Amino acid sequence: MSDQPTEPKKKLKKPRGVARLIPGRCIACGARCEAECPTDAVVMNEKGEPTIIIEKCIGCAKCIKICPSDAVEIYYTPEERAILAEMEKQGLIKEAKPRVPAGPKADESYRGVWVFVEQQDGCAASVSWELLGVGQKLAADLAVELCAFILGHDIAHLAPDAFAHGAKKVYVVDDPLLKNYRTEPYLKGVVDLIRKYKPEVVLMGATGLGRDLAGAVATELGTGLTADCTGLTIDKEQRLLEQTRPAFGGNIMATILTRSHRPQMASVRPHVMPKPDPLPGATGEIIKEPLDIKEEDIKVKVLEVIHEDAAGTVDIAGADVLVSGGRGMLGPENYKLLQGLAEVLKGAVSASRAAVDAGWQPYERQVGQTGKTVRPKIYIACGISGAIQHLVGMQDANLIIAINRDRDAPIFEVAHFGLVGDLFQIVPILTKKFQDMAKGDCEV
Ligand SMILES: Cc1cc2nc3c(=O)[nH]c(=O)nc-3n(C[C@H](O)[C@H](O)[C@H](O)COP(=O)(O)OP(=O)(O)OC[C@H]3O[C@@H](n4cnc5c(N)ncnc54)[C@H](O)[C@@H]3O)c2cc1C
Repeated sequence: MSDQPTEPKKKLKKPRGVARLIPGRCIACGARCEAECPTDAVVMNEKGEPTIIIEKCIGCAKCIKICPSDAVEIYYTPEERAILAEMEKQGLIKEAKPRVPAGPKADESYRGVWVFVEQQDGCAASVSWELLGVGQKLAADLAVELCAFILGHDIAHLAPDAFAHGAKKVYVVDDPLLKNYRTEPYLKGVVDLIRKYKPEVVLMGATGLGRDLAGAVATELGTGLTADCTGLTIDKEQRLLEQTRPAFGGNIMATILTRSHRPQMASVRPHVMPKPDPLPGATGEIIKEPLDIKEEDIKVKVLEVIHEDAAGTVDIAGADVLVSGGRGMLGPENYKLLQGLAEVLKGAVSASRAAVDAGWQPYERQVGQTGKTVRPKIYIACGISGAIQHLVGMQDANLIIAINRDRDAPIFEVAHFGLVGDLFQIVPILTKKFQDMAKGDCEV
């Protein structure tokens, strides 16, 4: 036996750590963390996001518990982590429980980013190229290949376009049964492809066809689908697709994760993502797959295809210039003012939901969350207040000009140029000015 005196064991005290913000997760929910903090350690910036003053933080974790988007975590210094590890070893504390229940683990064998190239009569929907644009960034962040998949009949000519927009491989299912869109054969074709090649991310356009197909595919595969995303990024550490979209009537932006199931599926409306410049001559691998379904197994039969008469309808989503009117227009008869301005700028007239609900403009011209997403070169908002549901549909326009008599209207927060005043005076002056410029007798 040693006669050396043993040093009394130092009692370990559990460190509390300090709260810190996880970049990119805050959804500016309305300062819940600030309200919850008992030591005033949380202050909000002008974007409604918190800054944590670590000198004041006591590590009580109240901000973490209240945060709806898991945007705050407790940070421990290396010394504190060593104490925690020691306490865990001694059985003094249990391993920290994750806040989000782990759930079943996602199948790790799924790899690659896939984009659905939607086509009708052999013409690709331009949202497909927009998705290949964002897909390039996602694939680079995941260090995987970007692939396109095309279904239809006589569609081989679309593969070079997919390569030009960044796809490295194109999966093609070409079959007469796929000539006109029907859910069942398209569903079978897509599900067979996904089950065989196992992509981890699948993106589709939130068009009429895309919405129908994406929902059916996600249901059949038992995976998640986030519709109408406005942002797509990768959490590189966890290999998760961060799918951001407006939630709660557009009042907050929610970032949604598909943690346990694969593939992670998202749809995006046309014109939300920028279209990449094509790289002509780019090539890649084409993989042809058969369609494993017979006509007699398909319940829906196409008897006749009637093309809608496009005359008289306006595609505001494709217009370079939009002159948009809201409740401030006061009535349908006043839209001729906007029509005059739109004509001289070779653009189209669009509207807010308030104007559409009032019956002043048809629904096809509505901009916003429940209308169309537009990305024109110029957007002139006349008598529109700038509610969030309107802004999500137009805030990516290259140049926004707002005319409103209320200088505090939220539309001015996104406008590049703001004109405070009566639209009934300003619009005719602008129209005349642009007419003179068009004639070439205006000094600018
Ligand atoms: C779930 C949900 C979805 C929605 N989806 C959409 C959507 O897709 N699109 C959409 O637009 N809205 C949508 N909304 C409605 C949205 O919240 C607003 O109510 C709507 O955008 C308001 O339209 P507005 O700006 O034309 O009208 P108001 O908010 O009433 O604004 C009128 C503006 O005109 C100005 N004005 C009045 N007279 C003049 C004048 N003579 N000269 C200059 N300015 C003048 C006023 O100062 C005011 O700012 C949605 C709402 C919900 C809840």
